[in-house]
Amino acid sequence: MPDLHFDAPNLIHWAIPAFILLLLVEVIVNAIDHRDLFEVKDTFASLAMGVGNVVIGLGVKAMILGVFWLTYEWAGFFKEALAPNLWYAWVLLFFAEDATYYWFHRISHECRFFWASHVVHHSSQKYNLSTALRQTWTGNVTGSFVFWIWLPLVGFHPVAVMTMQSISLLYQFWIHTETIETLPRPIEWVFNTPSHHRVHHGSDVKYLDRNHAGILIIWDRMFGTFQPEEERPTYGLTKNIDTYNPVRIAFHEWADIWRDVRRPLPWKDRLGYLFGPPGWSHDGSRKTTEEMRAELLEGEPERVQA
Ligand SMILES: [Zn+2]
Ligand SMILES: [Zn+2]
Repeated sequence: MPDLHFDAPNLIHWAIPAFILLLLVEVIVNAIDHRDLFEVKDTFASLAMGVGNVVIGLGVKAMILGVFWLTYEWAGFFKEALAPNLWYAWVLLFFAEDATYYWFHRISHECRFFWASHVVHHSSQKYNLSTALRQTWTGNVTGSFVFWIWLPLVGFHPVAVMTMQSISLLYQFWIHTETIETLPRPIEWVFNTPSHHRVHHGSDVKYLDRNHAGILIIWDRMFGTFQPEEERPTYGLTKNIDTYNPVRIAFHEWADIWRDVRRPLPWKDRLGYLFGPPGWSHDGSRKTTEEMRAELLEGEPERVQA
């Protein structure tokens, strides 16, 4: 039986002082340049979401590590070949984890059940380092960790998996900024950058559900979801929530789902509201990203609200 108290080094906790310091640097740059990157209430709402995510994570992460350990012990097919003292196991894990993040993130945009947690991260109309901390409270408890279970199943060490997840999250902090325009071409080609991730946070139809990358942008290029930054994106949701209340930010989409599935509709439609793409409706009264794109191609210029 593994020692379940052997915890992953919690890199996120160690990084908190650096997060705060960099955020202050961005606030100062913003003040010197007389830019409009911040809104006080919005920033505090983002910080509250970050704190809530970390507090909930204290309990839930230990549970997930337990699930990873049990999976690893029960299966862990290539345990010896992927042992964490082998350098190439970390290289493989880096690519495997980053591809997993891409698919988790993409499905979080394409399936409303996962979107209900992830929408939190997209609910700010500002784009600054505090937006990076605007994180879900419900993601792990509603099962987002299942996307990563295949890693301990094939034999990656559970602590190594969780460490790599933290590295990915740390990487994604600095890309939430407008103070960096673009980086040298080879970097923009391979890595997720501020420019690529600004597109991801855009609510403009051509930017919706694009650039799902964690660290490497190559997955979007490979799987057809890459969109370069052209005009500066309009940040936020196609239909913004207009609240700074952390509890409402955390749960508004779950509440909307609950209202939809309670309607007296056939089960097929109820399941559509739960697992269909965000914006799916049984009567066409709302629009999914695909429907909005189709309308744009047909030459309807005005933006449709999802
Ligand atoms: Zn996203
Ligand atoms: Zn983001």
